[in-house]
Amino acid sequence: MFTDSHCHLNFPELAEQLPAIRQAMAAAQVGRALCICTTLEEFDGVHALALAHDNFWCSVGVHPDNEGIAEPSVQDLLDRAALARVVAIGETGLDYYGMEDRKGGRSIADLEWQRERFRTHIRAARACAKPLVVHTRSAADDTLAILREEGEDGTRNRAGGVFHCFTESAEVARAALDLGYYISFSGIITFKSAQALRDVVAFVPMDRLLIETDSPYLAPVPYRGKTNNPSYVPWVAQQVASVRGMALEDVAQATSRNFDALFTGVLA
Ligand SMILES: [Zn+2]
Ligand SMILES: [Zn+2]
Repeated sequence: MFTDSHCHLNFPELAEQLPAIRQAMAAAQVGRALCICTTLEEFDGVHALALAHDNFWCSVGVHPDNEGIAEPSVQDLLDRAALARVVAIGETGLDYYGMEDRKGGRSIADLEWQRERFRTHIRAARACAKPLVVHTRSAADDTLAILREEGEDGTRNRAGGVFHCFTESAEVARAALDLGYYISFSGIITFKSAQALRDVVAFVPMDRLLIETDSPYLAPVPYRGKTNNPSYVPWVAQQVASVRGMALEDVAQATSRNFDALFTGVLA
């Protein structure tokens, strides 16, 4: 059985297709998925998915790219994290990608609000001892530094978590592993141009590796460019298997076990 550790099934293009997606998941032996929250406004919709289906769980958090939305307090996050089937805080982190266009020409110094928002999430995660789903893009040094400053340094961890949709170097992976965190790979590892990232796939210990779709984005080859959904996560697993010379079934099992160790606490 495969487990998709990160998807956005509440996004309209997927929510409208949910019965068909659930059928495709069953056919592809994708038994479980974690539905990730990116604004407080969407939390109820994400949470409803986890409540309605016993193979879905959800997170609560506000994505670092989102602006013009409710800014979460530690208490906002804790109130929602205490609800049934909420197993993680995030996605949260830092995103400095595209300062010229995506960020409207602002500087990294101007993004102090992102760093504050990230600290809020870390404090909530530590307070409720739930893992962080960390999004980091063009911001690895600050992401690692803030985790350490807030106490998630690998020796004083109360949250732990995962660096999701990992696209950084082996050096950054080493630092995240040293903090006690997991590394999750998406369909990007199937892209022809991603050889450097496949080398990181070979580097991460198998007991710290997760797989995800990050759907509706980033569909793996052979669906690249199409709308992604959790039933495609075996293509990510297949790439991990081929890079590491493992059987597909063993990758499915190991990554599902890691998912349980990190999120559900139910160990088979
Ligand atoms: Zn993300
Ligand atoms: Zn995401």
